[in-house]
Amino acid sequence: MEFLLNDQQAAVVALAERFAREEIAPQAAAYDRRAEYPHPIVEAARELGFTHLIVPEAYGGPGLDTLDLALVAEALGFGCAGIAVAILLNNLVADAILIGGSEAQKRRYLPRLAREVASYALTEPGAGSDAAAIQTRAFKKGRTYVLRGKKTWISHATEAAFFVVFAKTDPERGHRGISAFLVEREAKGVEVGPPLPKLGQKASPAAEVTFDDVEVSESARLGEEGEGFSIAMRVFDRSRPMVAALAAGLARRALDEARRYAGTRESFGKKLFEHQAVGFKLAEMGMRLAAARLLTREAAWKAARGVRNTLEAAYAKAFAAEVAVWAAGEAVQIFGGYGYSEDYPVAKLYRDAKVFQIYEGTSEIQRLVMVRELMKEVER
Ligand SMILES: Cc1cc2nc3c(=O)[nH]c(=O)nc-3n(C[C@H](O)[C@H](O)[C@H](O)COP(=O)(O)OP(=O)(O)OC[C@H]3O[C@@H](n4cnc5c(N)ncnc54)[C@H](O)[C@@H]3O)c2cc1C
Repeated sequence: MEFLLNDQQAAVVALAERFAREEIAPQAAAYDRRAEYPHPIVEAARELGFTHLIVPEAYGGPGLDTLDLALVAEALGFGCAGIAVAILLNNLVADAILIGGSEAQKRRYLPRLAREVASYALTEPGAGSDAAAIQTRAFKKGRTYVLRGKKTWISHATEAAFFVVFAKTDPERGHRGISAFLVEREAKGVEVGPPLPKLGQKASPAAEVTFDDVEVSESARLGEEGEGFSIAMRVFDRSRPMVAALAAGLARRALDEARRYAGTRESFGKKLFEHQAVGFKLAEMGMRLAAARLLTREAAWKAARGVRNTLEAAYAKAFAAEVAVWAAGEAVQIFGGYGYSEDYPVAKLYRDAKVFQIYEGTSEIQRLVMVRELMKEVER
């Protein structure tokens, strides 16, 4: 076991931290205010390989692993969670293709992730946590499928050139009746709605996507018929450490802002941190952040080595999200009235943090996963 980063990891972190400091942080408030997808920043991140970090070299990517992705996510999340998500979410689509794709699909779609935005479309208006209850249908017609249904909260759908879409091929078979498809944005019948108004992470727009009898070829199916749910679950094991790392990055930013403020602002003739009630908040933030980071890196490390990490990914995702929400709240408290002002950075951290407890499986769903995994250990 090794806690120190190796030379390559340290170089990647240094690059990502500089990018977050120089390219992301100075522009974060403006993109948040305008609720705008940060095209120039994503372009610059693309040049560094961040948008397609885990795409193997054979398919035109840098070929880094899930642990590298977590390290980059924490660094970029420190700069701005919304912009970091706008940059990194292509890697989730890469995971789906790497897990379920044929060689021909990998050759066709993975190189595109270095040039284009792609979205991952699982959630529907009537089914989020209960993914097996999706209603979107894929009807087999000769050597094609016809997709009909509606997805919601699809991050970057407004920018996407193609989608990974989950649909029922056999509704009688529950979660075993779900299949995954690669669908072009240009396909007839695909309609993307306007960005949904939301609380935070506003540089990462989400929208509804309607599939109105969209015809896709059989060769666009990812994996076997009925394998979609299993692909989605395996993607979660790899994507949850990334989300946990983004949350840890936000928590680190909250601590950084809070300690600088507490080190300069005075009340009752003392620096704020010299009041034990404030100083202890900083101590607690540092302690919980360190724990969140360790859980995250363990979950990412296991995924990178192909070791089953379902339990660790759920621990990391739920814990880091809760640390981020809590730490952002404490930072607002330490800033007092200025914490409530949009002219200071911590109000945005508070808004941005909340969704970490919702997307990629809510905190309650992570706990369901934990119970299932813990009980499996007993049964074994
Ligand atoms: C900003 C944003 C971006 C997103 N991006 C994407 C994306 O790119 N692609 C995508 O497919 N989806 C995306 N989502 C959707 C997200 O994954 C879902 O919102 C999430 O999984 C929760 O589903 P839901 O909203 O339907 O809530 P519901 O499933 O209706 O849950 C509502 C509440 O009930 C709780 N609950 C539900 N079932 C249980 C249970 N069995 N036990 C205990 N509590 C339970 C939940 O934890 C939650 O608190 C995004 C969401 C947001 C907000």
